[in-house]
Amino acid sequence: MWEVVRLRILVVEDEETIADIIATKLRAEKYEVDTSFDGEDGLYNAMTNIYDLIILDIMLPNKNGLEILKEIKENDISAKVIMLTAKSELDDKLKGFSTGADDYVTKPFHIEELIARVNVQLRNKGNHKVRDILEYSDLSLNIRTSTLTCKSTNESINIPYREFLLLEYFMNNKEQIISKEQIYDKVWGMDTDYESNNLEAYLSFLRKKIKIIGSKVNIKAVRNLGYKMEE
Ligand code: CA
Repeated sequence: MWEVVRLRILVVEDEETIADIIATKLRAEKYEVDTSFDGEDGLYNAMTNIYDLIILDIMLPNKNGLEILKEIKENDISAKVIMLTAKSELDDKLKGFSTGADDYVTKPFHIEELIARVNVQLRNKGNHKVRDILEYSDLSLNIRTSTLTCKSTNESINIPYREFLLLEYFMNNKEQIISKEQIYDKVWGMDTDYESNNLEAYLSFLRKKIKIIGSKVNIKAVRNLGYKMEE
């Protein structure tokens, strides 16, 4: 069984616009991302120990980033930590390093700079935890490049983000019936408005791409129950 384990990142940042920009960009890089907008919620989430990396702002309401860092280190939380600091917080930056932060980025920053630092921290982890290729029948999906290949025709096609998430979900649950609700939960999550999602349209784009490369795989509608990927 091929299973894709995505690396999971927590963003703790009280400026919600900044948090959203960071989260959106990281999701486009195929990380799983959660956000916390204050220190207490951030610590609560961090303590679950499900994250591979935490992006931690220093100035936060309720509990500051350095306090959070101290507590997660004392509790052996294994996540890498990148601190966000303002230029004026140089002392805090030094304190952060001595408390165990892995890196810091000074505000204001370019989003690409932050993403590059994240990728550096997770590079080794990623090699162990993420399989690059997901396979079913004559299909082979490269999850790093979002390229879908039909092994019998050797034809390939690039899959856009939302269709990629759909396809990945189906390939991880091949030959099983998946309900619409499960698909919405998994592919759209909570943070997109439901009405704008046109599942049927995305599925038809995806079916078309699978057909174009000559695969015998199909995503079938199962009346009243949902959908199923099969040969
Ligand atoms: Ca802040």
